[in-house]
Parts: sequence; structure tokens; C-alpha cells
Amino acid sequence: MRHRILIVEDEAALVTLLRYNLEREGFDVSEARDGDEALVVIEESPPDLILLDWMLPWMSGLELCRQLRRKPATANVPIIMLTARTEEPDRLRGLDTGADDYITKPFSVDELIARIRAVLRRVRPAFAEQILSFADLTMDLASHRVARSGREVHLSPTEFRLLRQLLESPGRVFSRAQLLDLVWGRDQEVELRTVDATIRRLRRALNAGGRPDLLRTVRAAGYALDHADALHGGAEALEADAVGGPTGGEAPIR
Ligand code: CA
Repeated sequence: MRHRILIVEDEAALVTLLRYNLEREGFDVSEARDGDEALVVIEESPPDLILLDWMLPWMSGLELCRQLRRKPATANVPIIMLTARTEEPDRLRGLDTGADDYITKPFSVDELIARIRAVLRRVRPAFAEQILSFADLTMDLASHRVARSGREVHLSPTEFRLLRQLLESPGRVFSRAQLLDLVWGRDQEVELRTVDATIRRLRRALNAGGRPDLLRTVRAAGYALDHADALHGGAEALEADAVGGPTGGEAPIR
């Protein structure tokens, strides 16, 4: 149940760029090169949001937007118009016809993605707030799907809960005892080493295909979701471990 975005744009290079970046952000992407094709694609699989270029062959983006708004099935689908700077005076007309937002070419991908998320949050708060993300990792709480760079990662329910805990506070170091309480629950008879074992499996699943490690092991302290190159904290923790860490006992194993 990832958000499906339809790109309606006749410039192939821009479509490729958009598709690459949107998929990396965890969106499902479909595309259409003109208004007629868009109508067919929408009929087949209704998108959650449409990126609609103003300048299209045959039918303009504006005309397509009007048509979509007239049909009950698509009257409420969020639309972000892509316009060129020269079309600036027409922007307000675009908004009048029912586009939810517009973005002027050339735009940065980050800005576009922020706009997409903002529109989705506004239109469908129940859905949009259920996506957690960090770096190229996304977690859809509604569908229980996890992806890295748009590719699905399969996790067990426990691995999912553990990752969710880490994703809700990126960078924060959780001790194994904290994770045990938060993920397994206080009343469960589970050993601390179970946390380590689950982290190991989670790490294997997330790093499949040689992706950079996002789970940081802090010796004698615990684990954090972090960029792997954040070595500073690790070095400090290593020293703490040498003088006897707070948790004592076995050190977490990577
Ligand atoms: Ca165009």
C-alpha cells in the first residue's frame, strides 16, 4: 500500500529522473506521456497523486486537470502541476482548475518530494503520517512494508517492531534493556542476547546487496539507527567499554 504517483510528462529525461528519485523515496511510480495515455493509466490503476506537466502534446495539462476534476472517480485525487517559468501568469488558473499545488521548473528533487509529502499529508493525513523514513530506508506503518531505495525488505514481526522503534528516533542510542522493554514488552521472559540476535537478522535483511549499514552498534551501550560513517560515537563507546561499560556482560555482536 505504498503511495502510487503518476507522472504525466512528455519529456523522457525528466520522467526518468523523477521516477528514479520517487522510487528511491519509496513511492510506486507510473507514467504517461500525454493526457490520453494518462486517462487510460488512471482508469487501470488510480494513483494517490498526479504530477502533471502543464505543457503536453495534444491535450494540455490544464485541460487534463479539468477533465479529472469533473469525474467523480478522480475529482479528489491530489494534483501537483509542473510549470515552466514562462507560464507563470497561468499558474493561478492552474490552481483555479483544481490543482493542489504547483512547482516551477527547474525545481530541486528535494523540494518536489517535500511538496508531494505535504500535499499527501493535507489530503490524506491518515496515510501520509504513517511513513517513517531515514536515509534510503522507508517504513509504511499501514501496510507494514519496509523498503530500501524503493526495494522491498522482508522482515519478521519482531524485526519490524525493532526497526520501527529505531526509526522513530534516528540517532538515539537505545540500550538492549530498553529495546527489550519497548519491543518485546516488560513481562516477556526474553534474554538480552535475543536483542543482539534480532539486530543481527535485521542488519542482514537491511544490508542485503551490500547496502551501507544503517545500524550502529555502540559497545556496552546499545544500538542506534545511524549512518555507518558516524564513527565518533562508536570510538567513544569503545573507550567506555574498555573501562567496563554500564551494562557489563557480553558486548553486542555485529
Ligand atoms: Ca512537457
